[in-house]
Amino acid sequence: MVPPDAAPPIRRAEIVTVGTELLLGETVDTNGATLAAALAARGVDVYWSLRVGDNRARIREALEVGLARSDLVLTTGGLGPTDDDVTREAIAEVLGETPVVDPALEADLRAFFARTGRTMPERNVKQAWVTPSVTPLANPHGTAPGWLAHLERGGAAKVVAALPGPPGELGPMLHDRLLPRLSLPAARLWTRTFKTWGVGESHVADQLGALAEGDNPSVATYARADGVHVRVAAKADDADAAAALGTPVAARVEAALGAAVWGRDDDTLAGVVVDALAARGATLAVAERASAGALATALADADPDGVRFLGSMVGWRVTAEDAPTAHAAQPDGGHAVAAAHEVRDAFAADTAIAVGDVRPVDGEGGGVQVDVAVCDASGDHAESLRLPGRSGPRRRGRVVTGALDLLRRRLR
Ligand code: ATP
Ligand code: MG
Repeated sequence: MVPPDAAPPIRRAEIVTVGTELLLGETVDTNGATLAAALAARGVDVYWSLRVGDNRARIREALEVGLARSDLVLTTGGLGPTDDDVTREAIAEVLGETPVVDPALEADLRAFFARTGRTMPERNVKQAWVTPSVTPLANPHGTAPGWLAHLERGGAAKVVAALPGPPGELGPMLHDRLLPRLSLPAARLWTRTFKTWGVGESHVADQLGALAEGDNPSVATYARADGVHVRVAAKADDADAAAALGTPVAARVEAALGAAVWGRDDDTLAGVVVDALAARGATLAVAERASAGALATALADADPDGVRFLGSMVGWRVTAEDAPTAHAAQPDGGHAVAAAHEVRDAFAADTAIAVGDVRPVDGEGGGVQVDVAVCDASGDHAESLRLPGRSGPRRRGRVVTGALDLLRRRLR
């Protein structure tokens, strides 16, 4: 075994998530994302991430392939007590070692069951296995300890580590047990994400021009439900150097994107709107049809105490007489303006937004449109959101984003 202190820093890691349910699409591989983000933040490059079923030979193959090209191979899953949990067996084969029961781990395991008033099923004893090279990693939230082993491949020091599959066990074990025991690079990744709305991905690419060509910092665009995101990532020997490298490029990206930027990093559009309301000392009421309560949900998440967001009427009607014509073309958003006034009065708010019905757009291009109106101290403002003809939750999400963006622009 190569002692950790003597081991060179891990520059490149590979992730192997184990579980047939991942290959069948029954479980979404969030562990892969958790590990990838944690390793990237610590300056470790992840070039490959692999999913493999509960099959010893194929897990072993994934480990061997990973160890040939990466410094660290990190697995999740397959540490349970059943016959199809075979990650330990596959790692033992790669190490060329035979698992034995560790008496101290076995005692811990029996104590874990005793605390919950159960006797340990005998098949669980394999969770107390170790091999000579393996350091067990205690799991305070479950029965399966993790495994950490140092080995050699092609004259180079390598590390293999196994963490349990349940996400609630994986996170604490990764941060508390595994990462502190690894020799990680001092290098750090600095990132800044700008979030835009109202501009397409190719338009953003045009605005960025040559800025998008660099490798370090890299500038990448992602189309997301709340608009196109542009992420600047810079890597350097330490955190300060990475920030110094990334900050000027981020400033140029932000300037190139201009007014389309509504937020950065962890900002949400509803949060930006609530902050803008707070800055003005304003309150908001909502009337919504096409968004069917989703706008209220987004605002309530951003303002859980209801300080700025006072309430919402879902499925509003201006008057009984207007209701039958709600689907008729109202290009001036007249219904929406009237509804905004009504809900503003009903909740005694100083700002209101009303989201109308979904209406088909005639002629070329098709799609649908939704009238949105804001009324505030400076008057009434109505717009039509043009949307692709998608149905259901995706369209609702775009309606919410479009409505919030209109509010954001009005509050600016
Ligand atoms: P246990 O000790 O609980 O048996 P394990 O290490 O054997 O854990 P699995 O049996 O493979 O892990 O998975 C347990 C649960 O963890 C799964 O039912 C699934 O909900 C979740 N899980 C496993 N792998 C992943 C993954 N890659 N992404 C998200 N969730 C996962
Ligand atoms: Mg499993």
